[in-house]
Amino acid sequence: FASKVAIIGRPNVGKSTLFNIVTETRKAVVKDQAGVTRDIIIEPVDIWGKQFDLIDTGGITEAGDLFSKLIKEQVTEFLHSVDLIVAVMDGRVGLVPEDRDIIRVAKQAGKPFLLVINKVDKAQEEEIAKADFYEFGVDIVSASFEQRRGVGDIIEWITKNI
Ligand code: GDP
Ligand code: MG
Repeated sequence: FASKVAIIGRPNVGKSTLFNIVTETRKAVVKDQAGVTRDIIIEPVDIWGKQFDLIDTGGITEAGDLFSKLIKEQVTEFLHSVDLIVAVMDGRVGLVPEDRDIIRVAKQAGKPFLLVINKVDKAQEEEIAKADFYEFGVDIVSASFEQRRGVGDIIEWITKNI
């Protein structure tokens, strides 16, 4: 069975954009509006001699506030069923409380975990955008999916960790 790689994160951070770039499909709807990915979308990826199943989790990780016990349990249970976790954050907004919840739940799952700081459209702002997130002590890459920057680093991290 192929490893399952879950893309998680708040609405509108770029999860579906990343999914479509890596899978080379347009299966995930990308929209400048929260909550457009209603279902979980899974697509097999065969890249750099490795295979994995990529999952756009919009439908579950955007379901609501992780402080809600039920939602937190559902997300936790879902993350136990995957092998790798890629959490996308919005580098223009910076770290917000919901991100802390997402990071906490992802770390508790005990799987290889990558933080992606997206929407860093100016390459010279990469370091400052990442600085907010160093406190978590996890792997971090900065990216601009719009400019296709950082996607190679993410694929490299995935292929090394599966
Ligand atoms: P999701 O809700 O997390 O799945 O986010 P989407 O992939 O649907 O993207 C939400 C919006 O952010 C869309 O309008 C995208 O075009 C935009 N977006 C995605 N990546 C970038 C980026 O690197 N820079 C900028 N400026 N916008 C981006
Ligand atoms: Mg989406």
